[in-house]
Amino acid sequence: MPELPEVETVVRGLRPLLTGRTILSARYDWPACLVTPDGPRFVARIAGQPVRGLSRRGKYILIVLDPDTLIIHLKMTGRLYVVPDEAVHDADRWVHFSFQLDNGHQLRFSDARKFGRVYLVEDPQTVLGSLGPEPLDESFSLEEFRERLRGRSGRLKPLLTDQTFLAGVGNIYADEALWVSQLHPLRPAHTLGDDDVTRLYHAIRHVLREGIIREGASVNWYRKPDGTKGTVQETLNVYGRAGQPCPRCGHPIERIVVAGRGTHLCPVCQVWQLA
Ligand SMILES: [Zn+2]
Repeated sequence: MPELPEVETVVRGLRPLLTGRTILSARYDWPACLVTPDGPRFVARIAGQPVRGLSRRGKYILIVLDPDTLIIHLKMTGRLYVVPDEAVHDADRWVHFSFQLDNGHQLRFSDARKFGRVYLVEDPQTVLGSLGPEPLDESFSLEEFRERLRGRSGRLKPLLTDQTFLAGVGNIYADEALWVSQLHPLRPAHTLGDDDVTRLYHAIRHVLREGIIREGASVNWYRKPDGTKGTVQETLNVYGRAGQPCPRCGHPIERIVVAGRGTHLCPVCQVWQLA
């Protein structure tokens, strides 16, 4: 699933293509992806709304219209891109939403597995209200991270991927951040010492920043809006590398299942020792 760096890359790619345009009309063929409002009201309401800008919150893409906001979650296989009308053909049979723009282009939402979600709302907080802080925000300090971890008995891997704890971190970047900070994914959060928390805080921000610089991880469906791949997958230390040597110590990377999710770690570097 696209995580913070992938979604941020999509937003940055689409921003110059959409900002200042007007959505003339919308079409869809898979109503289940549309959370709110219902289909006929969605089509009627979005027509004529100008695009004021694009932003991201967690793994959500916000296309700021006037007066509403179009919010899209890519989930497993969603892709968003803009093409000229004349380049639209039926080759991409997974396009379930398309938005006609006022410059002879279309914004298309392709989603093979149909887990993606689309919202058109007046107040984005009705969709985003329960999300935790943005890990790369200036305002997200080490002290706040420490405070949020206090008293949390949950294990690190599920906690880091809990969107109400921290917005935007998923399977790939959680595994990478835990490897960088040399913490075991099953370790309960409340057992971390001050140094552990400091390392984890910086590791999370480091892997997310690097992820944005490398324009995301194209390990499966994710592509940039121009159809090309990001390059994070070329530099992963543990994610998807079961059996290959740990870049730090050479021991084979292990894959375990934590809360139903494949989790990758170095059992030597990330050994859980209580101080
Ligand atoms: Zn190692």
